[in-house]
Amino acid sequence: MEFTYYNPKSIQALVDTLSGLPNYALLAGGTDLIVKMKEKLLRPMPQAVVDIKGIDGLQEISDKDGYLWIGPLVSHTTLTKSALINEKAVILAEAAGQVGSPQIRNMGTVGGNICNASPAADTVPALLALDARVEIQGPDGLREMPLADVFTGPGRTCLLPGQFISRIKVRQIQPDEGTAFLKFGKRKALAIALINGAVWLKIADGIISGARIAVGSVAPTAIRLYQLEQWLIGKPAHAEVFAEAGVMAAQMVKPIDDVRCTASYRTCLARVIVYRGLVAALERVQVGCGCE
Ligand SMILES: Cc1cc2nc3c(=O)[nH]c(=O)nc-3n(C[C@H](O)[C@H](O)[C@H](O)COP(=O)(O)OP(=O)(O)OC[C@H]3O[C@@H](n4cnc5c(N)ncnc54)[C@H](O)[C@@H]3O)c2cc1C
Repeated sequence: MEFTYYNPKSIQALVDTLSGLPNYALLAGGTDLIVKMKEKLLRPMPQAVVDIKGIDGLQEISDKDGYLWIGPLVSHTTLTKSALINEKAVILAEAAGQVGSPQIRNMGTVGGNICNASPAADTVPALLALDARVEIQGPDGLREMPLADVFTGPGRTCLLPGQFISRIKVRQIQPDEGTAFLKFGKRKALAIALINGAVWLKIADGIISGARIAVGSVAPTAIRLYQLEQWLIGKPAHAEVFAEAGVMAAQMVKPIDDVRCTASYRTCLARVIVYRGLVAALERVQVGCGCE
């Protein structure tokens, strides 16, 4: 495995470095990239590896105008432990805490989890349920887009040569909102998801006024169940409604058989994860559910 190693120290230096490289890979924590390079799974193999770990400002988490701004180099361990994330976007801490093992969580980053574009990535459903947007930088400057539009297929994103994610922006949870993240794996730890999912609910006087539901490992990319979200709006926040929503979710997903489990088992799990996610999200609503 031969490649040239670059380690730019600023965002501008990264843009400049990438503009001269025809075939490169960005290196964050390396927990996906290095495995793929060692196993020669990349076609073509990168001739250059650009290490972004030393770039200032990509490791920060900040809080402004009802949003959290998260640098792509923030590790899963940091997300899990961050007081800001636990207070204002707790499902992201919970999802990050489900990634791999302590070693993987120490090295692996949220930006790498997104850009690896696995349909089973654990932070992605949580970010989708939090309505995340990403800032993309490149030779043509900066643009912002919904995270949901980043994924184009398994292992594929819309990022063009020279482009990279420079920030992730999520809405902070409000008292009349509740969230939940759930994952089913073959083991309780160090297991890639058979299915994972995240729910965000907004409740007013016991009625659902907003819903976002995202599931992973049941389609070529993690997906939002937009039709189901619309169906939920205006309905009572009640277990019977949630059970019906679970049945509808199972009809909406398009899983495949793979080494981890069958498509039909994943379809059953989609019903369970959406039902349980809605119940758990409702339990976290502090204001407006009629029980305060
Ligand atoms: C043993 C093991 C267990 C694992 N378990 C889980 C698990 O349970 N759940 C889970 O979700 N994942 C799991 N993973 C996958 C992996 O750890 C995560 O996806 C991790 O978040 C990747 O982050 P990284 O920083 O290591 O990415 P890297 O490997 O450095 O990069 C991954 C990809 O993203 C690109 N990239 C990185 N940062 C950027 C950026 N800012 N802009 C553009 N492109 C970028 C890289 O070029 C590369 O293509 C596991 C991996 C291993 C080896």
